[in-house]
Amino acid sequence: MLNVLTVPAFQDNYLWLIHDGTHAAAVDPGDAEPILAALDAHGLSLAAILLTHHHADHVGGVPALLARHSVPVFGPRNDGIDVVSRTLTGGDQVVLDRPALRLEVIDVPGHTRGHIAYHAPEQGWLFCGDTLFAGGCGRLFEGTPEQMAASLMKLAGLPEQTQVFCAHEYTLSNLRFAAAVEPGNEALQERIRAEQAKRDAGQPTVPTTVGLEKATNPFLRYAEPAIADQMIAAGHVSSREPIAVFAALRAWKNVFR
Ligand code: ZN
Ligand code: FE
Repeated sequence: MLNVLTVPAFQDNYLWLIHDGTHAAAVDPGDAEPILAALDAHGLSLAAILLTHHHADHVGGVPALLARHSVPVFGPRNDGIDVVSRTLTGGDQVVLDRPALRLEVIDVPGHTRGHIAYHAPEQGWLFCGDTLFAGGCGRLFEGTPEQMAASLMKLAGLPEQTQVFCAHEYTLSNLRFAAAVEPGNEALQERIRAEQAKRDAGQPTVPTTVGLEKATNPFLRYAEPAIADQMIAAGHVSSREPIAVFAALRAWKNVFR
């Protein structure tokens, strides 16, 4: 029986520990200190590190963790991370003995060139770094709108109940943008109330689910005619062509306040 521990770090990052009560795999340990503290507090020993992409807030803690724990570091082949000891690409599997865990690797370029996501089909878990966020998606630092849209569609194709462990608490600001893009979406209005209540209670809004994202996240809903019409009316795009709408959504989000 596996569980996932949420380890907050920096301003708004979530690091994850997948564990069986004894052994843990750390996902995107951008900072070693909170990971070491969580391992200690829960009596866990680190057995593996899993990385989604090269940004410092996802890999920065790896050297300090390796100094104390000699463990394999799984990560993308094409993202330029020198601490990775086991390179992965889409279609690969990660099979760990402790914790007993099988992960399927999905290529999700867009935020970075080589970004990967990890899907645990038996548990219904997805660790997707800075690709799919609750109510939003990652910025296009290295990829194109076409690539990011295709990456998000792969994730949207996972079972609806899949729990999505994304790497940042950006949900409320993402949902404010979503409401500007799709004001008539009743599920979105309901979600905003529910997520606001979680934040008011000091709780994370992550994990989310694939089903909830498909119902409320404009970056999975860019082919909806209502979104295209709203984007055209607001002067952000001139056609309903889905990738043009997606690109316009991402560009508007970059400057939306
Ligand atoms: Zn990033
Ligand atoms: Fe990040």
